[in-house]
Order: sequence, then structure tokens, then C-alpha cells
Amino acid sequence: MANELAILVQGLRKTYSSKASGKKAAVAGIDLEVARGEIFALLGPNGAGKTTTVEILEGYRSRDEGTVKVLGQDPAKLGKNSWAWRNRIGFVLQSTNDSQDLSVHETVHHFANYYSNPRDPDSVIEEVGLSEKSNSRIQTLSGGQRRRLDVALGIIGNPEILFLDEPTTGFDPEARRAFWDLIRKLRDEGTTILLTTHYLDEAEALADRVAVIVEGKIVEVATPISLGGRNTAKARITWLENGIRQEIASDSPTAEVEKLSARFGGEVPELSVVRPSLEDIYLKMIGKS
Ligand code: ATP
Repeated sequence: MANELAILVQGLRKTYSSKASGKKAAVAGIDLEVARGEIFALLGPNGAGKTTTVEILEGYRSRDEGTVKVLGQDPAKLGKNSWAWRNRIGFVLQSTNDSQDLSVHETVHHFANYYSNPRDPDSVIEEVGLSEKSNSRIQTLSGGQRRRLDVALGIIGNPEILFLDEPTTGFDPEARRAFWDLIRKLRDEGTTILLTTHYLDEAEALADRVAVIVEGKIVEVATPISLGGRNTAKARITWLENGIRQEIASDSPTAEVEKLSARFGGEVPELSVVRPSLEDIYLKMIGKS
């Protein structure tokens, strides 16, 4: 069914109690709808409630209140359906503990056995860029290589929905780009992806929609282009005149550039026209611009 929701969350709440800080609402009433085939990113500062939300959706944490459906199932009430449901989802958690003595090859092949329709383990190892490390023990991998293995284990089961909690932490720039290509390929194959990230360029490059979470509440859900009125925000036009950098903000940058061009009789020195970046908008939204 093309329009069936992959994820439905209504009124989700989770409060932790600790001796040190008493009761604290980590998730304070969240509503979310993620369509099948969508890449959806959760953005928010440290402690905003992203991991708590994702782990509730994965069935690894209990909730206090609210409705949650992932692929039509409540992850807290799987019962006999547990294996069938887990067979359809994949995840990359924020931290993992695996048997450090196994090789990459052994680990990926081992995990493939948990699923009814796994991807080819050797292809997956290649896709995450670990072919050269295939026979290395996990304990000898670098932080970024270890993270690539986590991604391999997340996708080995050929999931319909993939949860990625800060998947590219520790990746070098080349590995991040390769990872983005992999995620786009999975999306093109129909995989739904829920991603948390602190990299705004990653959210912009991958996500169809983003949700900004602050203190357990959603501030806005939008496309990366339109978040916080970004698409209609004034453009900043800068240029060099008499050795001094000039700057104006405008709702109609094309007209301003035409005027400048007429004034300079052609090329405007060091002209640049920029709309606010996703990071500019995000920082403003979370109150730290
Ligand atoms: P980050 O970006 O740092 O990963 P996050 O948005 O994923 O942050 P969560 O890990 O969901 O945030 O944490 C939300 C809040 O809940 C934080 O204040 C955190 O300290 C608290 N919290 C999370 N897990 C627990 C726990 N097991 N017991 C008590 N408090 C917790």
C-alpha cells in the first residue's frame, strides 16, 4: 500500500526518575508520522529526547503514554509476532557491544543468519567500505570502521525500515559521502529510514523531512528547504566595492543583483548571494543563534 504509514506516534511521553535530578520528562508529548519510503531525520540538541524516542520505536524502551505503531505493530506489544516484526526492521544504535574476537566477515555472516531474507554479506561488507578489513578482528578496527560495521549489521537483514541513531559519528568525509550514497540507494529500493544526526549537512543531503526536537517536544516538522521559513527568508548579498565588503539583506535578490550589475556595468566584484543554511535556521530554532 503506497500511502501506508511506516511509523505513527501520537502523544508519546516518557519520564525518567533518578535520585540526582528527580523526575524528568525526556519525551513530553510527541506526534510523528513517517510515510513508507521516506527518509525522516530527528534533529535536536544533546538530551532533547531523540534516542529515547527512537529506542521506544525499536521496542527497546518502554513508554509511559501514547500510541506507537511501527509497520502497523505496537513495539511494546509484540508477543508472538516479535521475530516476524524484528525480521522487517534494522537499526544502528548509538553504541554497541559485540564479540570483539570475531572478524568482520564472521560477524556479518553470523548476523545474516538471524533474518529470513538477508542481503549478501560480502556485498554488504563491500558497500560499507570494509572489504579490506573483512578478515580483521573487531577489536582492531578504528572508531569509524567500527561504525561502518554497525551500519552493515543494520542493513544485513534487508529491512523495510531502518533506524539510524547518529550513524556517521567518527566517519571521515569520504566515508560519510559513501554512506549517504548507500542510504539513498536503500531509499530508492523502498526502505523507510528514521535518522538522528547532529550533522545538519547530513540531514539536508538525505532527509525528505526533518523534525526539530527540543526538551522532549517537537518544535517543527518540515522539509530541510522550508524549515523555519528558510525558503522565504531574506537572502544575504555581499560584494566588494572600493576595497570594502558590502552587505544587504533582501527579499528580492535577483532585482538587487540586476541593479548592482547595472551600476558596475557588468561583473560585480566577489558577488555572493546566500540564503540561511539549515544550520543557521536550526540554531535559531533551538535558541542559540
Ligand atoms: P544526544 O543527542 O545527546 O544523543 P538525545 O536527544 O538522544 O541526546 P536522550 O538520550 O533521549 O537524548 O535523553 C533525553 C533525556 O533523558 C536526557 O536528559 C537524558 O539525560 C535522559 N535520559 C536518557 N536515558 C536515561 C535513563 N536511562 N535514565 C535516566 N535519564 C535518562
